[in-house]
Amino acid sequence: MVFATRFAPSPTGHLHRGHAFSALTAFEAARAVRGRFILRIEDIDATRSRPEYEAAILEDLTWLGLNWDQPVRRQSEHLSDYHAAIDDLRERGLVYRCFRTRKELDIGRAPHEPQAPFEGGPLPCHEEAERLTRDEAFAWRLSLAAAKEALGGFETLTFIEEGAGPDGEAGPIAARPETAGDIVLARKDVGVAYHLAVVLDDALQDVTHVIRGEDLFEAAHIQRLLQALLGLPTPTYRHHRLLMGADGKRYAKRDKAQTLRELRAAGVTVAALRAEIGF
Ligand code: GLU
Repeated sequence: MVFATRFAPSPTGHLHRGHAFSALTAFEAARAVRGRFILRIEDIDATRSRPEYEAAILEDLTWLGLNWDQPVRRQSEHLSDYHAAIDDLRERGLVYRCFRTRKELDIGRAPHEPQAPFEGGPLPCHEEAERLTRDEAFAWRLSLAAAKEALGGFETLTFIEEGAGPDGEAGPIAARPETAGDIVLARKDVGVAYHLAVVLDDALQDVTHVIRGEDLFEAAHIQRLLQALLGLPTPTYRHHRLLMGADGKRYAKRDKAQTLRELRAAGVTVAALRAEIGF
């Protein structure tokens, strides 16, 4: 299969240097082997995604000198594909309804502690029926226990890391999906979870290499499990280091990192930016 990689931003803000680094890393990798470079807009979170950010992303990437396969896949246009996959998992007893609110899940958790992996399992039938009658909101969670049974254990779940995880993990990696607990695959407000949409799209778009920041290394462990459950191929992973600012911190939307548009408006050239971030 021809080498294919992708850059998959969520249009929830403007791109900054960290995105430029990631997009260029993937783009140059594809170009070096005359492979395909795919741009995918991950806008399943309708509460946070904005069309004007998507337009700005296309503009910024064009400014950077990138070009990509057409048409661009926009996840919000394929929600029924993702729901079909959830239905499939549901028919196989691999997901269950979880009615717990965020507040309930947070009981006993100190504010600085990360949320503990959740493995509650389904409610007893009568209680579930009662809550459904009351029209209570629920999320679909993947049952690790059911998944383990269906696959006969997680031992065969491995993936190849050609880059490195945050602790230098490289080479053949044994996936540890259990560390995430029973992940949410769909919610009332966000109809489908990122993990599910990503594995389906990577398979559908024949992505052979997932090139992205090491902050998503843990996601590969969960995504590997979903690939196995849905009978999808596993791409090769190449997680890259995160670009750090002068303050030694990674660039992030929430820290109001200087955006590519701001750099452009300030007269920074693409050549200067490329040199600054190591291209
Ligand atoms: N949409 C994700 C993000 O913006 C990236 C997904 C991925 O590369 O797998 O963080």
